[in-house]
Amino acid sequence: MKFKAVSIALVVLIILTLIIDIQIFIVISIWIILYLIIVSVGVFNVQWQFFMPIICTSEQDAIILTFDDGPHPVFTPQILAILKEFNIKATFFVIGRLAKQYPDILQSIINQGHVIGNHTYQHSHRFGFYSTYAVKDDILACNAAVRGITGRQMQLFRPPVGVTNPNIAKAVTHLNLKTIGWDVRSLDTRITSQERLFKRIKSKITNGSIVLLHDRQKITVEILPKLLTYFNENGIKVANIEEGLTLNAYA
Ligand SMILES: [Zn+2]
Repeated sequence: MKFKAVSIALVVLIILTLIIDIQIFIVISIWIILYLIIVSVGVFNVQWQFFMPIICTSEQDAIILTFDDGPHPVFTPQILAILKEFNIKATFFVIGRLAKQYPDILQSIINQGHVIGNHTYQHSHRFGFYSTYAVKDDILACNAAVRGITGRQMQLFRPPVGVTNPNIAKAVTHLNLKTIGWDVRSLDTRITSQERLFKRIKSKITNGSIVLLHDRQKITVEILPKLLTYFNENGIKVANIEEGLTLNAYA
């Protein structure tokens, strides 16, 4: 992948510098700093697909709505009711421990025809520092929890906070999962003004966008009817992820 190419480039540049033998220390330091900057951006930017393939857009003439970090006891049912009213199918990347805590809500997501994907069991902020084994363990625990409740074997994965690295890439490849990113980050966990959030999403959406939202946020519930009305009035279609990306969400 690209990570390998950049790592090889660093080694080649160091060897070339040693051969030429001019101000070796400074030049090597510059290459190393540049390398670290590129790798750091790669870790946090899903659209770079730096360590692994990540689907960030669809080729269809429709957008895909995704909700992360649920099920939430209050906001997920409210979001489900709004989606039902507008007859829209979305994708929910669920956290395993919450799925176990709110099995009825998880089941109602499925019953209403939405798709669920794996967002790890713990959703730990330390996920980026996990070993390959720990990453696999956390992903498998989420899949087991959801399978125990719904009977579905999830094949779609979204990394917490969009962080990827060589360990996560190895684990996802071993488990044969498809990683879903986004091209529109709503920032609904940070923006506090409904108007600003609505405007941001509206301005960033293009054909085939995958939109990242969170079903644990009150503001997301508040702007959703306005957003779906805007889609309706402007002929913006919202596709189910399986149709939008022509893939199977379950094994
Ligand atoms: Zn998350």
